[in-house]
Formats: sequence, structure tokens, C-alpha cells
Amino acid sequence: MSHEGIRFVAKGNEASESEAQQPLPRIAVTPEKVRVLITEGKGMEIDWVDGHRSAWGFAWLRDACPCATCVEQRKLEGCKAGQPKPKPTAVLPMYTAPAKPKSAHAVGRYAIQFNWQDGHSSGIYSWEYLRRSCQCPECTFAAEETTGTPN
Ligand SMILES: [Zn+2]
Ligand SMILES: [Zn+2]
Repeated sequence: MSHEGIRFVAKGNEASESEAQQPLPRIAVTPEKVRVLITEGKGMEIDWVDGHRSAWGFAWLRDACPCATCVEQRKLEGCKAGQPKPKPTAVLPMYTAPAKPKSAHAVGRYAIQFNWQDGHSSGIYSWEYLRRSCQCPECTFAAEETTGTPN
């Protein structure tokens, strides 16, 4: 069983997170195609309605879990979303399997949720959160160089 073929078209939604950031244009946060490459163990790819394409590895997504517990944990550890946790040096190196979800499913029309193999599943990744976390060189460059939103 695999879900890598899930594809759905989301039309406008009313998700307006109470974030201090400027809202992104709707076409920038509306996915046209969502591919979750679970069998390949790669990650997720989204083609947005505005023509942009984003891709994230599962490890990044796991470390960017937007649930309250993980957000709090990252705050305590001083990690950014998607940044791997600092490894405790006193502990013998242990093999940790790369993060991978068992399954993924859409949450309404505004988000996707992963059931991670480690049992965690409370993170709801909104399209807006994902678009703002786009890992492509263009977006990461823009995020570093400016504080505004590219239009
Ligand atoms: Zn979490
Ligand atoms: Zn991008």
C-alpha cells in the first residue's frame, strides 16, 4: 500500500492563520499536484497553481513538524523548522532510521498530515506553512535576503 499517487485539486480556502506575516497570494498556497513519495522514501513534492514547484525531504518535514509540542521543543533547542536536533555527544552514536511516514492524508483543503513511523502524527502542515518553507534555491535566497514577501 502506498499513497504516493495522491493528487487532488484544492480550490480557494478560508485558512487565514493569525500570523503577522503578509498573506501570500492564493495561487501561491493552492497546490495543483501533491506527490508524497513514500515508497521511494524521498519526500513530498508540490506543484502550486502559480507554477512554482516545491520539494521537501521527509527528514526535513519531520524536523519541521508544526505541532505545538515540536514547535516548543525547537524553541527550547534553538532549532529552526527543518533543522535536525542537536545530537547529544555523551551518548553512543545510535543508528536512527531516516524519518519516513507510514501514510499521509489531506486535512480538509488546507493541509496535509503525516503518520510518521516513529508514531508521531499530530503535525498539520498547512499549504501556507509549506509554501513559506519552500526549500528551492530561489525561495531560500529570498528568505535570507529580504524580510518581505516576494511578489
Ligand atoms: Zn510534532
Ligand atoms: Zn520555492
